[in-house]
Amino acid sequence: MLEELYQEIILDHYRRPRNRGTTSPVDLHAKESNPLCGDELEVTAKIVDGKIAEVKFDGHGCSISLASASIMTGRLVGKTLSEALNYIENFQKMMRGDVPFGGKELGDLKALEGVLKFPVRVKCATLAWHTAQRGITATFEKPPA
Ligand code: ZN
Repeated sequence: MLEELYQEIILDHYRRPRNRGTTSPVDLHAKESNPLCGDELEVTAKIVDGKIAEVKFDGHGCSISLASASIMTGRLVGKTLSEALNYIENFQKMMRGDVPFGGKELGDLKALEGVLKFPVRVKCATLAWHTAQRGITATFEKPPA
């Protein structure tokens, strides 16, 4: 079962996480944890002209939470905040088993869909996305500088 869960893509992102650290400047920031597993993630982003120019994550957790964060950082770059929120919502729907994500744009995310077979780990896979979602929502509520 574990072999099926820890697929190659997840292990690759876990071993060589993309975009780990903190962006400069920090235009968007959120921190969330998943006490069930002990995952703790912090997501930061740099925003240029209303678009996400860079996303980074830091923290610690299981291979699924870190791999999902690593994959997410690549997916949100280039999107406006509304597009990013929409994308995050689609991913969360997929992880609830509601709707399959469009095949074309799935790519690495396909590996995470496999986590659906292990409901207890779904929170691990969605933690980074939930964190980014909170960070984005908070910037909407903040008055412009
Ligand atoms: Zn976890």
